[in-house]
Amino acid sequence: MKFPDQLNQKLSYLPPRSLELVKKAWIIADRVHRDQKRLSGEDYINHPLQTALYLADLKLDFQTICAALLHDTVEDTGLKLSEVEKKFGRSTAKLVDGVTKLGKIRLRKTWFGWGGIKKEKLPEFERQAETLRKMILAMANDIRVVLIKLADRRHNMLTLADVPAPKRERIARETLDIYAPLAHRLGMGELKGEIEDLAFPYAYPQEYQKLTQQVKEVSRSRERIAEEARRDILKLLAKGKIFVLVHGRAKHWYSLWLKLQKPKYDNDITRIHDLVAIRVITDSVEKCYQILGMIHSKWKPLPGRFKDYIAAPKPNGYQSLHTEVFGPGGAIIEIQIRTEKMHEQAEFGIAAHWFRSQHKTSSQYLEDRVIKAPLKETLWVKELAKWQRALKDPTELRQSLTTDFFKDRIFVYTPKGDVLNLPSGSTPIDFAYAVHSEVGEKMVGVKINGSMANFSDRLQNGAVVEILTNKKSAGPKSDWLELSVSNTAHYHIRRQLRRNRLISNFLHFGPKYKNKN
Ligand code: MN
Repeated sequence: MKFPDQLNQKLSYLPPRSLELVKKAWIIADRVHRDQKRLSGEDYINHPLQTALYLADLKLDFQTICAALLHDTVEDTGLKLSEVEKKFGRSTAKLVDGVTKLGKIRLRKTWFGWGGIKKEKLPEFERQAETLRKMILAMANDIRVVLIKLADRRHNMLTLADVPAPKRERIARETLDIYAPLAHRLGMGELKGEIEDLAFPYAYPQEYQKLTQQVKEVSRSRERIAEEARRDILKLLAKGKIFVLVHGRAKHWYSLWLKLQKPKYDNDITRIHDLVAIRVITDSVEKCYQILGMIHSKWKPLPGRFKDYIAAPKPNGYQSLHTEVFGPGGAIIEIQIRTEKMHEQAEFGIAAHWFRSQHKTSSQYLEDRVIKAPLKETLWVKELAKWQRALKDPTELRQSLTTDFFKDRIFVYTPKGDVLNLPSGSTPIDFAYAVHSEVGEKMVGVKINGSMANFSDRLQNGAVVEILTNKKSAGPKSDWLELSVSNTAHYHIRRQLRRNRLISNFLHFGPKYKNKN
């Protein structure tokens, strides 16, 4: 198939030589996927194409676009990673490899029952989900891998109707619990809202039905009010010679549903004021506050509802002024005021960097945001901040996009679906001791992904490991020290070997032996 016009147009920001490589990637992807179909019956190639188109909208670099076109080739076709490296370079090959590896991470059915999680199980579930999110970032090792994965997931969500029911629910839940929060952490509000709303009807069909019905009843009048308010604001600001972009914004379904469940709202939709909100976009921070003042002098603000996320941005970098006012006819409306840069940041997050650098404007705002942002002192947020800080200098981009975060670590599952984080090169012995020293001591066999395996086998990322134990086991053998890599395993094996030696010496030589030492 010929190189798609749509992609060609969207990639006009790339230099000609980079575009040539993307065209080459297209030819190969088109060839290797040729006889494959999606579940919908359409040609498979449309999936990598849609993934690449989305990333082209974000104006990402050519390696990312090439890797997006090739992202399913290594897994699903005979194409070798070495081939990708030879033709497109190491960087692109690493991106493809990263996306392939991420494909193996799964939200496990054992973590949630059908139709939702029981309340008392929530903390445990949240812990597992958080581990999984970290695992994705760790295995990605390059933020662009996560961006490709998110674009891939977005297209899979758009075509989810064609997937058989049980798998569909798992994918929808995975999107809500893993990928949407990841997009949120990366500040990509638009993508987050979109994939959440695509997943919501499949993950919680009844709740979705009920909510849309409820909203229908109240939203028509809200929309009329919002339109009136929008015109009033335009007139008001034009008088002050401030020209802005004002638009209404319908609230996303899933975030609305989550909000309604908070005690404050108690499932009462009439208490939600931002069902239809107004967004005012201007060109400077000073004007944001000026506009806020003008709006507050026209319409009385609700006490305690004003939030200044410009002075105090959210941890993911989000900035805006939020206020609620008694608008036309006394109806409560929410108004958000922000600059264009803040808007881009709110919609595209970490990807806004590439977007901005293409527009050749200052990226000072990133520095401001990162330095002024009240970051929670978690490793997670720190790592993200490091990435973001690195983004302000494009020359450093290549090196700093990769991270040491969990470098040389692997993630494996217990049969119950708990995730363990081990040094790479770990064997079942390391795994057993990481579960519990007693499990290590009594280990007599191991199954990896359901098949019997050897103690010396190196564990792969994503493997399910089951340790078989026997109370009568004689304990660790001395060669276990060489067969394991983790400090935990070494510590316990040495201790247990020493103890066993003392016992057997005692049996041979009697109590006097101990006194000699
Ligand atoms: Mn894919």
